[in-house]
Amino acid sequence: MSVKERIEDLRSELHHHNYLYYVEDSPEISDYEFDQKLKELEKLEEEHPEFSDENSPTVRVGGQVTKNFATVKHNERMYSLSNSYSKEDMEDWVKRIRRTIEEDILFTCELKYDGASINISYENGEFVRAVTRGDGFEGDDVSNNVRTIRSLPLKVDTKNLPEKFDVRGEIVLPFEGFSKLNAERVKQGLEPYANPRNTASGSLKLQDSSEVAQRPLECLIYGIQAENLSINSQYEVLSTLRNSNFNVPKEVKLCKSLNEVFEYIHYWDEHRHSLPFETDGVVIKVNNFTHQQELGHTSKSPRWAMAYKFKAEEAITILKEITYQVGRTGAITPVANLKPVQISGTTVKRASLHNADQIKKLDVREGDTVFVEKGGEIIPKITAVDFSQRDPNSTPTKYITHCPECKTELVKEEGEAVHFCPNASSCPPQVTGRIQHFISRKAMDIEGLGGETVALLVREGLINNYADLYTLKKEDVINLERMAEKSAQNLIKGIEKSKKQPFEKVLFALGIRYVGETVAKTIAKSLKNINEIVNAEKEQLEKIDEIGDRIAQSVVSFFKNDENLGLINRLKSYGLNFEIEESENKSNKLQGLKFVISGVFKNYERKELKFSIEQNGGKVTGSLSKNTDYLIAGDNMGPSKKEKAEKLNIPVIDETTYEHMIK
Ligand code: AMP
Ligand code: ZN
Repeated sequence: MSVKERIEDLRSELHHHNYLYYVEDSPEISDYEFDQKLKELEKLEEEHPEFSDENSPTVRVGGQVTKNFATVKHNERMYSLSNSYSKEDMEDWVKRIRRTIEEDILFTCELKYDGASINISYENGEFVRAVTRGDGFEGDDVSNNVRTIRSLPLKVDTKNLPEKFDVRGEIVLPFEGFSKLNAERVKQGLEPYANPRNTASGSLKLQDSSEVAQRPLECLIYGIQAENLSINSQYEVLSTLRNSNFNVPKEVKLCKSLNEVFEYIHYWDEHRHSLPFETDGVVIKVNNFTHQQELGHTSKSPRWAMAYKFKAEEAITILKEITYQVGRTGAITPVANLKPVQISGTTVKRASLHNADQIKKLDVREGDTVFVEKGGEIIPKITAVDFSQRDPNSTPTKYITHCPECKTELVKEEGEAVHFCPNASSCPPQVTGRIQHFISRKAMDIEGLGGETVALLVREGLINNYADLYTLKKEDVINLERMAEKSAQNLIKGIEKSKKQPFEKVLFALGIRYVGETVAKTIAKSLKNINEIVNAEKEQLEKIDEIGDRIAQSVVSFFKNDENLGLINRLKSYGLNFEIEESENKSNKLQGLKFVISGVFKNYERKELKFSIEQNGGKVTGSLSKNTDYLIAGDNMGPSKKEKAEKLNIPVIDETTYEHMIK
């Protein structure tokens, strides 16, 4: 046997035993034998670097060092999941689905593993790259570290899988490994880690992969992304991946009804503590991929999946003091400062009390013994007071009447639960907060300027509002702390460049209460320019999709304010965009026509197709009716849609025909 053959034999043997040991938990050879084979392979690889392979079983022990993790764009965006907390939430979700899907629906239920999300790309059956979720669009390349995770196959049998695919999973640190790691740290005189989830995601960002190899991380797989997938349901995906040696937990159930889904939820709510790893809920997915495509995504998450979060864990502690924070919109948040307490593995020192009504409702007072609840990412909250422990001399909490920062008398608008400091123009945290919001990445995205510098510029009296940014000169900032010629120049350049930001970003940047990124986009698209928005009546705003009473009212009040109008006029004079740039493809060719779109398209995301139809004067509706003019069908369209279109005599066209219509 040649050296090359021996190396290849050892590699495939070790991959196999590794799988038996770490995934199947049923080893066929002793640890000693395994180590002997691994040592032999290491030696041969060292002597014959010409046969090196970055997916050899020897990479499991680490050794590669990553100084800077490269940013990599995901092939497919990694979405979040919508959350639900009750039976009613779930029923509402299914009702929403029912508006689009008439056929029977199956649900796949899985556990929601609590760790760090990861996207792992394979080509020709080989691991090529592992990237963290990051912001969903791009993440960090942590391949060297992920290669050390033994339950993740580096080579897979591609019999049932396409040539190129990405798997999605969660990297977790099981409880047992976590406590061992902590025991070890304590022995070395180091501070123990707070919880398995943060330790798992922290591990992925260690520079030295041999350190990562010491940590018994696991990679639990729950999904796949690929172009030519012959599989057509989530449940099948899970079994196919399991059969291809991926570590897909077996606690999966295919359910025919919501009742069956609840059985699963209740069972795991009770039994999850016996699982080897941390979970924070259940993920329910519409099983059929054609259904999934018809449902599509919102701006943040798929409509076909829902996380059901288990009820948070609770602890008892003492409320030391209530303090008050002022946000950028002037909203006051009362904060409970607590005697530090451990909840689900993290130390909790503060909890939100929300507003005056909440304090009154709970009758919570300084010095009280309180119940604190915390779940996942949610800010801890106080759920109740233990009245048996209350000091008989205590008096009810008096909510503040004046702003803790600027001493202005607080106001509370009708129908609102929150108090506000009305001194928008000179209350320090509001002034700074609004400018910080204005420059943030999703708003004006001013490069070279950060939150700290904004605070400094305000403190130094160089700016008082966001319009002032555009009058800054290099000479003004160059003498500030930690500024130099280069950074001052970059700051001014960044400000100048931000003038190019599109109108919807500018609208979001203005910081209108309740007008988030998505709402700003909706309003901008609908009313096109600032004058329309300034002059819009409340009723007119409420007619826009997804704009309710509260948002409409807030927009109207914002533009009634002379100070705000003054700022906008100044921004206009500096050349910021205050109207939507019309796209070139606009026409009236589809005027009066109603379309339904279904399936997957080659040249368009469904959103884009919808936008294109609207740009050309047409309308898109969700379901077929006798008023529908055309059904545009992509791949994988549901059979029921097709039947219905035929019954109603609605022409079914493909995307090429559509493109001709708008030419
Ligand atoms: P969230 O971060 O709360 O929006 O939840 C979305 C994350 O849940 C995803 O990015 C996944 O990493 C994670 N997750 C854990 N278990 C699952 C599962 N079984 N299916 C889908 N996502 C899961
Ligand atoms: Zn104030």
